[in-house]
Amino acid sequence: MKPSRLPIRWRLTLWYLLSFTAILLLFAGFLYWQVQRSLLAQIDSGLQLAATQALVNVDGDNGRLAFQNLENSPQLGSRLSDDIGIYLLSPQGAVWQKLGHDEEMPQLFPVAGLQTINDKDDRWRVYGEAIDLPEQPGGWLMMVQSLEPVTTTLLALSLQLLWGLPLALLLAGTGGYFLAGRTLRPIDDITRTAQVIHASDLKQRLHHVGPADEVGRLADTFDAMLDRLEAAFIRERRFTGDAAHELRTPLTALKGRIGVTLSQPRQPQQYVDTLQEMEGQVDRLIRLSSDLLFMARLDQGQMAQQWERIDVQDFLGAMVDQIQPLAAAKAIVISQTIPTALTLQGDMDLLIRLFLNLLDNAVKYTPENGRITIHANQDTTDLRITITDTGPGIATEHLPYLFERFYRVETARSRNGTEAGGAGLGLAIAHEIARAHGAQLQVDSQLDQGTTFIIIFPLPKGANLSL
Ligand code: ATP
Ligand code: MG
Repeated sequence: MKPSRLPIRWRLTLWYLLSFTAILLLFAGFLYWQVQRSLLAQIDSGLQLAATQALVNVDGDNGRLAFQNLENSPQLGSRLSDDIGIYLLSPQGAVWQKLGHDEEMPQLFPVAGLQTINDKDDRWRVYGEAIDLPEQPGGWLMMVQSLEPVTTTLLALSLQLLWGLPLALLLAGTGGYFLAGRTLRPIDDITRTAQVIHASDLKQRLHHVGPADEVGRLADTFDAMLDRLEAAFIRERRFTGDAAHELRTPLTALKGRIGVTLSQPRQPQQYVDTLQEMEGQVDRLIRLSSDLLFMARLDQGQMAQQWERIDVQDFLGAMVDQIQPLAAAKAIVISQTIPTALTLQGDMDLLIRLFLNLLDNAVKYTPENGRITIHANQDTTDLRITITDTGPGIATEHLPYLFERFYRVETARSRNGTEAGGAGLGLAIAHEIARAHGAQLQVDSQLDQGTTFIIIFPLPKGANLSL
């Protein structure tokens, strides 16, 4: 269907008018029908009452029926002045006597009960009753009344309705248009404010004051969306700045080193030393750029994930083997308590990266002769793997930001020693990988109390616990 070009205000008014017209038409029809019915009922009861009164005055007279002693019946007299015609008919329909209403009357046939007769241009209401007096000839009493007053009243009513209807619709339309305008005005306000908000200035908000109705909720949702957008923009800007800074630091160091080396002739051994030092910086650059690339791919969901069932004990054992040389160099003992037959669904390459990042941190930040403990257990809902170290711990104020990109606990230990000074991407990557697995990465740490990282993998629904 083609979308309507009509503004909502007009569409609302039209719909309103349409339903209002339908209601008015129904109402007018009902009114007309009710008035017609009650007018007819009034005439019918008048005719029947007059018939009862007239019957009292009917008697036999020379082999036919006739009205007697009319002067003694004032009630009947007043009925006659109401334009009622009263007839006495022979059983065959010949008129024996006729009272009241001089005008031309329709031809009557002896029929019992109420009926409507259409005669030329006029309509008549007729009531007939058979007369059966003892020892008198039989006959018919017929009461007739013109329906012209009813027709006139109904015509007048129709005319009034016909005039009134467009007038009512005009008023309703104007009112509807005005009301629709009032209802939509806050939305117009929102649109106007939204139009002046630019990507460069996401600080503006609608700050809608008013009831928390549909419009209020729209405005609040809009503001909340701007909050998120602004936060995302700030994050993005900081990320770019941090990345540039991280790239610049080793590059500046390289440049400085090259400058110093070239400033005067050197011994071959000095060149070798310089190149070896430069290699360290280049390694750092390569690691940084591959981390950034990895992160970008993860963000864009471009990481081709190959999910497989992984034996937790084997997997963590292999991770420990890989990190063991680094730990041994610092005389750090790694111990593990991992039950057999625990399995995990996930992408092997990504999970290797996750656990190596955590183990690398544990070894990197734990002083010599420390201890790292790896523990795994599974309950009815999830599988938890914890990595605890006896390192320096992390102050509580840093914990909320630990998984942010480039976030480092800026202390002498992490920045000074070139070996320990990472880019601050390791935990952010680990966090993203956990999220891609539907898992949670949490940290539990206090200064001087060591650190525990917890990875919680939800069990797939219907997983067999004995697996
Ligand atoms: P990268 O991992 O990119 O080489 P990094 O190790 O400095 O650099 P993250 O792994 O993201 O960055 O860690 C962020 C910060 O958290 C670290 O700078 C460190 O201060 C702190 N941290 C991480 N793990 C531990 C730990 N086990 N004990 C103490 N501090 C830790
Ligand atoms: Mg790290």
